[in-house]
Amino acid sequence: MDFDWSPELLELQREARQVAAAAVATLPVKEDSWLIGTSREFSLELAARGWLGMTWPESEGGHGRSPLERFVVFEALIGGGAPLATSWFADRQIGPTFLAFGTPEQRRRFLPDIIAGTSAWSIGMSEPDAGSDVASISTRAVRDGSDWIVDGAKIWTSGAVDADWCYLIARTDPGAPAHAGLSELVVDLHSPGITINPIEDMTGNRHFCEVVYDGVRVPATNLVGEENGSFRQVMRQMEHERGGIDRLVSNRALFDDVAPRADGRDPLVRQELAAIETSYRIGRHLVLREVLGQAPKGFSAVTKTFCTEFEQRVVDFCARVVGPEATISGRVARNLCYAPAYTIMGGTTSILRNIMGERILGLPREPRPAS
Ligand SMILES: Cc1cc2nc3c(=O)[nH]c(=O)nc-3n(C[C@H](O)[C@H](O)[C@H](O)COP(=O)(O)OP(=O)(O)OC[C@H]3O[C@@H](n4cnc5c(N)ncnc54)[C@H](O)[C@@H]3O)c2cc1C
Repeated sequence: MDFDWSPELLELQREARQVAAAAVATLPVKEDSWLIGTSREFSLELAARGWLGMTWPESEGGHGRSPLERFVVFEALIGGGAPLATSWFADRQIGPTFLAFGTPEQRRRFLPDIIAGTSAWSIGMSEPDAGSDVASISTRAVRDGSDWIVDGAKIWTSGAVDADWCYLIARTDPGAPAHAGLSELVVDLHSPGITINPIEDMTGNRHFCEVVYDGVRVPATNLVGEENGSFRQVMRQMEHERGGIDRLVSNRALFDDVAPRADGRDPLVRQELAAIETSYRIGRHLVLREVLGQAPKGFSAVTKTFCTEFEQRVVDFCARVVGPEATISGRVARNLCYAPAYTIMGGTTSILRNIMGERILGLPREPRPAS
């Protein structure tokens, strides 16, 4: 088996690395660029190169490229710190959700702007009292003629303050069992009744937001997929969110910049460097299996857990390399403060381990009664 990329893929990788290097020349932070690197200009650049909607069918306006080509491009862009947060959620999961569940009219309406890099999307799932347990959300959408009226509050909505749209999960049937009464709505974030309050995290960044919905009217045509059928759709969407290269390379640029300062004469340092490189390659294979559709159902829980724990190991290593500097300021300090988020966002590691136990390994959900 030949594990080398073809000359065409290597050329694409070289091009994407150059684009990333040019983009980060003026940016202070290279890490976590898929989440905090907001730039409308860079979205247009990605679109001009045909790197948005890369794998989507040409009949839907996409570029019909292979999953490997997309993998190569985004490993290089995110690993190099390119500011692609403005387009990332739409390209990673909202577009694929429209392709899977949207009506032809919705696909015609929303996909072209995503592919052109002119619309920015956010995801409104979590609430102050509902994070891990999506089924317990209480934001309501009540049908009123040809609209839904939305009331409630979402939290940790990444990028909402800069976004045009929110892909919202709301309760549409309060009488149904918790998992069965949820639906998905596309909400124009400029609608009357929406208040967006950015929340400053401990690194000083304000990318995630509280979003309050007060009697917000949403056209009924903006309901995506099956009314009250969101739970199944969300699970599909999470596969895109958990199994991608963004979960492995968020702080690759930091490692590349700090590793040369490590004391290679120390056998323990050499051992850790080897472990990090080996783990990167394992993580890459896990992601490749997801990307190529070869991973078993639900396996993205394993992929995300391995990859995000790896990212935390990377910054721990970088902190030990730079020593006390890591506690003062700069990129290592910032990434050290940010790294706990890796194993929280997109589903906490505890929840993912529950999924591994229950859905992949088939372990019993409840302790067996004592005999
Ligand atoms: C950087 C960042 C960006 C985010 N962006 C978004 C976004 O764009 N949109 C969005 O909707 N959300 C977003 N989130 C929210 C994220 O999805 C939630 O934080 C996450 O799902 C956990 O929910 P919670 O914070 O309410 O914690 P809780 O669900 O309250 O969990 C608290 C703790 O209890 C543990 N726990 C809970 N239930 C169980 C259980 N059954 N078994 C074992 N342990 C359990 C958890 O593992 C965790 O350690 C983001 C979060 C972060 C950190």
